[in-house]
Amino acid sequence: MDCLFCKIIKKELPAEIIYEDNNAVVFKDIYPKAPIHFLIVSKKHIASVNDLKPEDKELMSELFLVAQKVARENNLNGYKLHINVGREGGQLVEHLHMHLLSGKPMEMP
Ligand code: AMP
Ligand code: ZN
Repeated sequence: MDCLFCKIIKKELPAEIIYEDNNAVVFKDIYPKAPIHFLIVSKKHIASVNDLKPEDKELMSELFLVAQKVARENNLNGYKLHINVGREGGQLVEHLHMHLLSGKPMEMP
């Protein structure tokens, strides 16, 4: 499948991976929008939040626990979790991912 994040997950493309388990991978965003900008990505290819199915419930909660884990490991006191949904929602890569942003005051856009 011609998907950028699937290729990163399969190590066919390079990325600065900081965490990996059976269901998720976390790597640094190549164009960081904050001093810390990680992408928390499901290993399963799901195009967006709009494509989630009831069986993905557990996977989604796991992604939040992964966010908590990498935040703790990086001593982050506060951070923003952000998901873009669909082109009009600012989603450029059609593979489910959560942005973790930190390192500067995080206001709402
Ligand atoms: P979104 O707009 O929510 O789809 O976010 C996609 C994110 O992926 C953007 O913040 C990009 O900077 C980031 N990105 C694109 N290509 C790469 C790559 N090869 N490695 C790491 N991050 C990437
Ligand atoms: Zn994919």
